[in-house]
Amino acid sequence: MTSSAMRDLMAITERPEVISLAGGLPDTSSFPPDSFAALMTGVAQTSCARALQYGPTEGLATVRESIIEVMAAEGITGVGADDVLVTTGGQQVIDLVCKTLIDPGDVIVAEAPTYPGAVPAFCAYEADVIQIEMDADGMRIDVLEETLDRLDREGRTPKFVYTIPTFQNPGGVTMSEPRRRRLVEIAAERELLVLEDNPYGLLRYEGDPLPTLRTLDGGIYVIYLGTFSKILSPGLRLGWAVAPAPVLDKMNVGKQSVDLCSSSVTQHFVAAYFADDRWRDYVASLASIYRRRRDTMLDALAEHFPREARWTIPQGGLFVWATLPDYIDTTDLLARALSENVAFVPGRAAFMDGRGGSSLRLNFSGVGEDDIREGVRRIGKVVAEQVGLYGTLTGTVAPHAAGGAAPTPATVGPAAGPDAGTGPGTGAHIVHLDDRRGTDRRREG
Ligand code: PMP
Repeated sequence: MTSSAMRDLMAITERPEVISLAGGLPDTSSFPPDSFAALMTGVAQTSCARALQYGPTEGLATVRESIIEVMAAEGITGVGADDVLVTTGGQQVIDLVCKTLIDPGDVIVAEAPTYPGAVPAFCAYEADVIQIEMDADGMRIDVLEETLDRLDREGRTPKFVYTIPTFQNPGGVTMSEPRRRRLVEIAAERELLVLEDNPYGLLRYEGDPLPTLRTLDGGIYVIYLGTFSKILSPGLRLGWAVAPAPVLDKMNVGKQSVDLCSSSVTQHFVAAYFADDRWRDYVASLASIYRRRRDTMLDALAEHFPREARWTIPQGGLFVWATLPDYIDTTDLLARALSENVAFVPGRAAFMDGRGGSSLRLNFSGVGEDDIREGVRRIGKVVAEQVGLYGTLTGTVAPHAAGGAAPTPATVGPAAGPDAGTGPGTGAHIVHLDDRRGTDRRREG
């Protein structure tokens, strides 16, 4: 078992003087305290004994109806209450899918980088995780097919493909519609399960929604993971899985030995909350807060990061993935950043094989705009120190200030990341700092 990089960081980032751009924390301070009090009082008055009681493993029927409503808002129809398993957060879905399907040495195919919180689950079940590179359109499905063919020749069949197609964590990129269609086709052709992890689909700040994998033909091979964490509250610890019946049955059995059932108290809270339509307004209000914070972060990056850096332009979700010159190690950089009271997730946490060493994940939902600006400024400062130090030591790079005007050094090559291999102007969500100066280039490319 390995410990989660993000969980380790949380202990440090709870210090009030630290600006954390590390966790994936939604802004729960935007939830009206009066509504919270009224909902909890309502639960106490109408369902006290049941809320304090054990519940069915699959979850309360009312909550499963709420889940069907949320999924319909994502464009997913035709799901019945029996297709849904309520879980203790989306995190438990990842764990239960592994518990159900993975024997030591089994192959899981995931994105490179992948959700850092999935890494400890994959490790605990001793999976052999093969990570497929991404570009601005998400997972490279051509590389996936080559990989599946190679595995086939070796007599190995992955147990499932794990993907976060929409506003990927940590990459910030979204899988294009043609790639989604091809992925589910491949799943059907090869009878391959796909775990579609979709916590962020409703947090879109621009562009048109894309169909979930589950909605597409071939979606019967999809295990769908949803959660209330980012559209309502992670403190509730409630998520869900929709899966083919034989898989869902096993996941239910797996859950029985973990926690018997998810919290009845918070399930009653959710049932009461979804009794009217206000949840849609709340999601819309979150989206407008996060849109502004994302823009603030992108502006701050343009101002404070060195010109050799690159980062993704997320159309939704909570994260930007930045890649620095490859001589900068972001695990080391984090130590320096923490001494400046700012935190991020180092890129290696998103890889099983030590890659990602010069990348970092930045969250823009958890703190306000002033803190985002200041946090990025502080990271930019420690990055600039490293760039300067490298230049002084090697004589190859002129020391210059972050966001400065020095020429791009020819010695700095591309580094691993979702945008690796894409040049300036090749990806809809990618910024390349060579293009940056003078105008707002964020919508370009
Ligand atoms: N999957 C992804 C991609 C996530 O980003 C998260 C939370 N950050 C989870 C799953 C787990 O979420 P939770 O357990 O809070 O529902």
